[in-house]
Amino acid sequence: MYIITKKQIIAVILILAFLISLPLGIYGTITAAAEEKIGTVVIDAGHGGVDGGVVGRTGIKESDINLSVSKILKRELEKNNIKVVMTRENKDGLYGEAVGGFKKRDMEARRDIILKSKPDLVISIHANKWISSERRGIQVFYDDTLKGEKAATVMQEILNTHLNNDEIGRNLSPQKGDYYITKCTNYVSIIIECGFLSNADDERNLISIDYQKTLARYIASGAVSILKDSFD
Ligand SMILES: [Zn+2]
Repeated sequence: MYIITKKQIIAVILILAFLISLPLGIYGTITAAAEEKIGTVVIDAGHGGVDGGVVGRTGIKESDINLSVSKILKRELEKNNIKVVMTRENKDGLYGEAVGGFKKRDMEARRDIILKSKPDLVISIHANKWISSERRGIQVFYDDTLKGEKAATVMQEILNTHLNNDEIGRNLSPQKGDYYITKCTNYVSIIIECGFLSNADDERNLISIDYQKTLARYIASGAVSILKDSFD
């Protein structure tokens, strides 16, 4: 009669445990890879609260358009495995009470969120206004750094190819600008002026949710390119 020894039982248990753990192990690796983030982006929806930013002919406030585009952009970036931190997710500003010095407090609160998030990229969403109602298009601004310029160039190219060429029939160049949000930290930061609320066509686009979705999708694709470039 064959006698099963204690050692043999332990060996069988160990082999079974190993075989069971194999597929789980592989599954675990796949899950971890799928969830691994390719970077962190801070989305800053410009203005908010008593600071509505510029106002369109229809009365639409820049702060509301910025928020709407930013929320769609958040979803688009998350689809691309990017961790997103928002400076604001509702209509309020970040200044507490709207009393003296609120703008400074608002901007400093945004800076603190950026500093805490240690992002690979900051995208500040705005809309523009100009004295001439002719002026149109999406333009990217950057601070006085090479990384900022590189990021703005990548973003501007994508927005030119997919939107400015069709909408306004030409390319726009990224612009160096002196803005608090791009200069308040050392993280790569760009401002996207999504169009001119002083122009009826741009305003009509910016009010449309379909256009906002298209715009957010291309901004997200620009962000993915910028993040990939930064790892090269
Ligand atoms: Zn603005």
